[in-house]
Amino acid sequence: MEHFREIHIMYDVLVLGGGHAGIEAAYIASQFNLRVGIITMPGIALGSAPCNPSVGGVGKGQVVREIDALGGIMGLLADKAGIQFRTLNESKGFAVQSSRVQIDKDLYSREAELLIGSVPNIDIIRQKALRVTTNSAGIFEVYANALYSAKKLVVTVGTFLNGRLHTGSQQANGGRFGCDQSVGLNDLFSGVKTCSNRFKTGTPPRLNKNSIDYSVLEEQPSDPDVRNFHCMHLGFARMAKQISCYLAKTNQSTMDIIRTNRERSPMFNGQITAVGARYCPSIEDKAHRYPDKHIHHVFIEPEGIDLDTVYPSGISSSLPMDIQTKYVRSIQGLENAVIEVYGYAVEYDVVDTTFLGLTLEHKTIPGLYFAGQVNGTSGYEEAAGQGIVAGVNAALSSLGKEPLILSRHDSYIGVMIEDLTSNTRDEPYRLFTARSENRLYIREDNSLIRMWPYRTKMGLELPLDQYIANFVLSVEVLGSFCDETMIPESSIIMARLAGIEPTQQLSKRMSVAELLRQAWLNPITTLQEILLFYGLAIDYDLIRTVAISKKYDGYIKRSDDHLLKVRKLDGMKINWETISSSGNVSFECRQRIARIKPETFGQLKLIDGIRPATLAVVAAKAL
Ligand SMILES: Cc1cc2nc3c(=O)[nH]c(=O)nc-3n(C[C@H](O)[C@H](O)[C@H](O)COP(=O)(O)OP(=O)(O)OC[C@H]3O[C@@H](n4cnc5c(N)ncnc54)[C@H](O)[C@@H]3O)c2cc1C
Repeated sequence: MEHFREIHIMYDVLVLGGGHAGIEAAYIASQFNLRVGIITMPGIALGSAPCNPSVGGVGKGQVVREIDALGGIMGLLADKAGIQFRTLNESKGFAVQSSRVQIDKDLYSREAELLIGSVPNIDIIRQKALRVTTNSAGIFEVYANALYSAKKLVVTVGTFLNGRLHTGSQQANGGRFGCDQSVGLNDLFSGVKTCSNRFKTGTPPRLNKNSIDYSVLEEQPSDPDVRNFHCMHLGFARMAKQISCYLAKTNQSTMDIIRTNRERSPMFNGQITAVGARYCPSIEDKAHRYPDKHIHHVFIEPEGIDLDTVYPSGISSSLPMDIQTKYVRSIQGLENAVIEVYGYAVEYDVVDTTFLGLTLEHKTIPGLYFAGQVNGTSGYEEAAGQGIVAGVNAALSSLGKEPLILSRHDSYIGVMIEDLTSNTRDEPYRLFTARSENRLYIREDNSLIRMWPYRTKMGLELPLDQYIANFVLSVEVLGSFCDETMIPESSIIMARLAGIEPTQQLSKRMSVAELLRQAWLNPITTLQEILLFYGLAIDYDLIRTVAISKKYDGYIKRSDDHLLKVRKLDGMKINWETISSSGNVSFECRQRIARIKPETFGQLKLIDGIRPATLAVVAAKAL
């Protein structure tokens, strides 16, 4: 390796990869005034979106707000590049509602470049890393066009490790369309275990936006009532031009074309052996998994204001080009669609995340962190959520400070990391609200409250900290107002509410908090109206947080006792070595425990195949 020019900078934190995980890791680490570097492939913009041009969605909107409250950048960039805002699950309860923003993908990357480029203590190194070693002092040495040294290394290389692309029988090496691949994990590092399966993800063909007949499709305009992601942005200000998405549908003919060409599908003819995400199926998957279903939604989503392409969400495919053209043109409104880039699938190596701890640090290689798609997840938000956790922990560790671990009881990021590190993944992992046991509490509206204790632990004193501290205090004050202000059975307030809501007569005098829990009232508009009555002009976000929190208070309190017990037990430290050598535990359980090395009872519980008897023995502290 002597021919590598050595760069005499010792990075405190070096991030490998400038995707969604990488930029979060680098940005948060830079906030600690450390020397940070990002090594990323040339020709690929920071924070680029190789698949769906959108941020947020069910469960993911919550993650974006958690990242934002922790001091990350995904929400801020999405607001700046947002061209259509929606609330998903609007007809369901507030707890499972999520924001989703269609982004101009070029603008998003330009904003990411501008933001990261403006941070003086981050160097952006546009080179391909070929090998990583550690020297005798535990310093990482990354060989690219030159040799870079770092105390902590965060690896966020996405779908690039030994990446292989498929469109029909055509195959090529690459991390994504038009991009180089990275060497495989075992060539990059020695000592890091990959999953035995490779993973796969796919993307749909991109269509020319002028070749679509929008007149027969259902328009979905941007919703002005959706709040921006970044807490310090003006709630409903739009920073980019708003454009509509459209809804199209597959039909019997579309699905017949796909079904009759099963043998030409790399997914079904044995060409692709890697495993894809169950909850993000390709159109071939849908066709064969649901043979009687012919109608599937296809969302026609603009990729940008000035870009000529649209992303037809719901029809990702690795079928040959002629079949893609045929099935796309069988859809009403797309009869004359021109395909600009064909859909494809990519297979890549992923890390065995059971070798990572809850900080995402490797258990046997101290100072080495992994985050993002390389950990077997799928999605920008999942990647960014891991990026911020890995980045903050790399920074804290480099400063000799206590690690920051997010609990699954108060964050979706915590849910994801515990799920990831507790089992070897056999398919790509996506977040959705049902993964959390505590989803009435883990909502978008209270993310600042939930993340504040974590943010304070970071010990940063930035404008964001002042903003959140004020917000948290105001929530307490407004919460007390709701608890202490009484509304008589027949009051002027109730008469006023009758003007905006189908109101019932109150059966008794009750506090505002109690009133907000009534099922027949919208808690937000009710609290807004009450405050107006008292002449109090209060910020919408504050009202929303307090109103929804009060609405769920009853349910949350009821489950709190139970959760407290669960949390206490889940947090109980266990000694995996004792358990895995105990004669009271089955051989299979011992093997699984020895492989995953759980540190807490909660992690032990999440391991696949652990028997109730083992849990009972450990819970009783018999081991
Ligand atoms: C074909 C395709 C389909 C997808 N489909 C979906 C989907 O349907 N839904 C969804 O939510 N997500 C999808 N994704 C995934 C989405 O792209 C990722 O979840 C997200 O981008 C992961 O972020 P990341 O930061 O982990 O990795 P990436 O965004 O992939 O970033 C990795 C970065 O690492 C850099 N890099 C890699 N190797 C090296 C090296 N050796 N040296 C230097 N730099 C390196 C690259 O330049 C890149 O900047 C898809 C991705 C692809 C490619």
